[in-house]
Amino acid sequence: MTLTRELLKQLPKAELHVHLDGCIRPQTMLDLAPQFGVSLPADDADALALAMCVRNAKNLEEYLERYEFTLAVMQSREAMERIAYEFAIDTAAENTRYVEVRYCPALHTPGLSLAEAIEAPIEGFTRARTETGIEIGIIICGLRTLPPSTSYDMAKAAVDYQSEGVVAFDLAGAELGHPAKDHVRAFDHALGNGLAITCHAGEGWGPESVWQAINDCRTQRIGHGTRVLEDAALEAYIIENRLPLEVCLTSNVHTNAVASVAEHPIRRYFDKDCVVTLSTDSRLMDNITLTDEYWAAHTELGFTREEIDQLIINSFESAFLPDDRKTALVADVRQELKRVQ
Ligand SMILES: [Zn+2]
Repeated sequence: MTLTRELLKQLPKAELHVHLDGCIRPQTMLDLAPQFGVSLPADDADALALAMCVRNAKNLEEYLERYEFTLAVMQSREAMERIAYEFAIDTAAENTRYVEVRYCPALHTPGLSLAEAIEAPIEGFTRARTETGIEIGIIICGLRTLPPSTSYDMAKAAVDYQSEGVVAFDLAGAELGHPAKDHVRAFDHALGNGLAITCHAGEGWGPESVWQAINDCRTQRIGHGTRVLEDAALEAYIIENRLPLEVCLTSNVHTNAVASVAEHPIRRYFDKDCVVTLSTDSRLMDNITLTDEYWAAHTELGFTREEIDQLIINSFESAFLPDDRKTALVADVRQELKRVQ
């Protein structure tokens, strides 16, 4: 059996770590830029795709600067609805059945009210779900670089929209010098009101950041966790407690968290029986699809078809879905993985 990129595209997939403001179609940015008075670094879609892709960033902070362009065109209800819809359509087009997409609504105010910043994407997701059947969970983010009171407001908003598709709370943004433990009140509120918790950690900062996410924020998954291997006790804890890692291979190269995909510790984590999953982080800034990430795992890290099936199952099993829905979804996916050869 030969594993091809096309076959990987056909496999049913789930994605757990992707930023809405990192996934705008270049043409949509061009369409929206004039109405917001935004000057973009290129004026046709192909050139803009290249200009928005961050290669050779020195660190996470430099990588995050590209988001200023996308956020600038995400400041109206119509723009947010369209971007959410197109994101879900593009995701469904590569056979992704379930996606958890995250963003920080505070970054879309005052262009929108906080309520609109949550409701407009929900409308877009609902439209895409009706057309394609893709299931979508929303993760609301606080940002490490914004005041803890803002994170708390985001957690409260996340809880308010729990019945409309918000599944979890996350903390994103520049990691170094901005400890997660300062935002514990937000995590406590989300967790105390039935939401799930994930937290970016171990990407721009080392093991201490991941320990804070676990011990202070009580996270149920780790966003990235790239640097977990620097602390043997931490690695053992994560393996023993089956804490899933949301791994984003290409993004980690682009933020300089690892030197190359081939050197990414996902191979080591997987071989040690850690629950690793694959996601894109950002389709635009990393110029990739989820299929590309599976292809990179195969070509650069030697993941076999059997191992790729395991990565896919890991993603579905780590989803923030009710247990009964998850069990049904995993059973369907296992059948389909057997069929698609
Ligand atoms: Zn991320």
